[in-house]
Amino acid sequence: MSDVITLAKDLISRPSVTPLDEGCQTLMAERLARLGFVIEPMIFEDTTNLWARRGSEGPLFCFAGHTDVVPAGPLEKWDTPPFEPTIKDGMLHGRGAADMKGSLAAMVVATERFVAEHPDHKGSIAFLITSDEEGPFINGTVRVIDTLEARNEKIRWCIVGEPSSTAQVGDVVKNGRRGSITGDLLVRGVQGHVAYPHLADNPIHKAAPALAELAAIEWDKGNAYFPPTSFQIANIQGGTGASNVIPGELQVQFNFRFSTELTDAAIRERVEALLTRHGLDFELKWTLSGQPFLTDTGALLDATVAAVAAVNGQQPALLTTGGTSDGRFIAPTGAEVIELGPVNATIHKVNECVKADDLDLLADMYQGVLARLLA
Ligand SMILES: [Zn+2]
Repeated sequence: MSDVITLAKDLISRPSVTPLDEGCQTLMAERLARLGFVIEPMIFEDTTNLWARRGSEGPLFCFAGHTDVVPAGPLEKWDTPPFEPTIKDGMLHGRGAADMKGSLAAMVVATERFVAEHPDHKGSIAFLITSDEEGPFINGTVRVIDTLEARNEKIRWCIVGEPSSTAQVGDVVKNGRRGSITGDLLVRGVQGHVAYPHLADNPIHKAAPALAELAAIEWDKGNAYFPPTSFQIANIQGGTGASNVIPGELQVQFNFRFSTELTDAAIRERVEALLTRHGLDFELKWTLSGQPFLTDTGALLDATVAAVAAVNGQQPALLTTGGTSDGRFIAPTGAEVIELGPVNATIHKVNECVKADDLDLLADMYQGVLARLLA
């Protein structure tokens, strides 16, 4: 069994359901300390984070990832116990195999091999590992980044090990992510009897044309890397349940997935202006869960594409699809951020698994990136 698989199995056997770490980071830190990394645990509330760095010079290359996993779900639906890693027909099974303990193992082994070959490499290598990526992301990567920013420690290049691949490891590299912002809208009217509408004010009637207009807007056309921004109403509630009552309030929740053609400020401004123009008496609460980011050029992208091509014999597709990742917290510091990890077909599902050989290929890719940037 390869080094990568052995370490991946060690990590999977620790039931680190978010926000638990269950000693995963200690296991990684011990290996990194042996290579000369300075180990800096960063514990915030219930979340265990690891910052480990080898070297003090720039440029700083960082591997980012998480040791927490989503809950296993119903155990009887698993063919093998989720926290007993098992290789079956060439597939490594277990919760976290793909998301993303396999990547963590590949990062550590790639670094060990690279440092053995280049003990006096250029710049610095770091690991930014959290245990709350699958949770509320309050005390994880965000706080580590705040700490680094406060002491002006700047990441130049970052690879996030999220499972980016579709059919074969390295077939897709994510070089950006869409932004996500949610609006909770409350429209006020005046409750009354449906037979006496002149004594009431129906918030549904007042809001409907505004919502129709919002749903029909072309927010942008997207660009070379991003699909057009989408607006979707997710929840709508109004009325008392009785057929003879005009409701006093309407609640609407909507979400934008937005490209780099827009900013959250521009979205807020345009929505609020539209609601005001429709004469609504409203309250609107916004929750920004991530800014969009894009790494469309630069040394990291070039090194990653070349390293993947050297292993696979073909270049990866560059995509920005899918949900958010912790890359959204790292990119705003000015870092170039790329996501490269194994096939994501089974993430968060029962019987999560990954092709065991893919993790060795992934380690070769990570090592290839290090060699191209820091050798
Ligand atoms: Zn993940």
